[in-house]
Amino acid sequence: MIIARSASELRGFLDTKTLSVGFVPTMGALHIGHRSLIETARKENDIVVVSIFVNPTQFLAGEDLSKYPRREEADFKICELSGVDILFYPDVSAMYGADEVRITAPDVRGFILEGSSRPGHFDGVLTVVMKLLNIVRPSRAYFGKKDAQQLSLITQMCENFFMNIEIIPMETVRENDGLALSSRNVYLSSSERQEALKLSSALKRATEMLMQGNTKSSEIKASMEHILVPLNVEYVAIVNRKFEALDEIVIGNTIVLVAARVGMTRLIDNVWL
Ligand code: AMP
Repeated sequence: MIIARSASELRGFLDTKTLSVGFVPTMGALHIGHRSLIETARKENDIVVVSIFVNPTQFLAGEDLSKYPRREEADFKICELSGVDILFYPDVSAMYGADEVRITAPDVRGFILEGSSRPGHFDGVLTVVMKLLNIVRPSRAYFGKKDAQQLSLITQMCENFFMNIEIIPMETVRENDGLALSSRNVYLSSSERQEALKLSSALKRATEMLMQGNTKSSEIKASMEHILVPLNVEYVAIVNRKFEALDEIVIGNTIVLVAARVGMTRLIDNVWL
């Protein structure tokens, strides 16, 4: 596995090749969710590039940028053992200069739900993803459905800017008890981890109600909120794939989302119906 620390170094390794390139952008502290993206990229492409970059511009003041988990040695091993060809591992100065042009999230879809809880977050996400996609120039890029709004905005950015990259949505990988894997789960104490299961339980309740024939968003949300009660809930939302609120669930075009704080840790989860 080659480790590249700057855009020019990475291009030096890729420019001579005309093979398909699969790209998995991450912030490191890799877990089995990340690995499923890497393994799929490995199956579908000639060359696999993974980036590890904790992007400062997507963290708001007071968020966990300085304590975001960093696991350099373990991450390198996981990449190597997963068959990654090139690990892109830049520092902040290799990615950002002073007084830069930035990408701005769309007015509505970028500022509801996650965008409302974390104003400016998606500007930072889109800016760094634009940079990374321009550096790597992949055939396919893999993103998790767990970050549903992020996935939707990145897909939209590639369409709006006529970028010739296939964005591949990947299923959320969960622990056996339902907890969605997240790098931030390491912040949870064992009692908080139990509490965190309420997110996936609430989503399970939504799917059960749908299976019983109830498609009413207001009733489903009320039932989910009941399960989530002890947590500090930021939002429960039922939207279509364009992130427009739905009064009724439409099978094949619905995402049920939840964001809540468990202790000091902010968690998100969702289910695509
Ligand atoms: P992150 O390192 O948290 O920025 O995540 C990097 C990529 O992995 C993003 O596309 C995430 O949506 C995806 N991802 C994170 N957690 C999971 C999971 N549990 N299952 C599948 N993909 C995930």
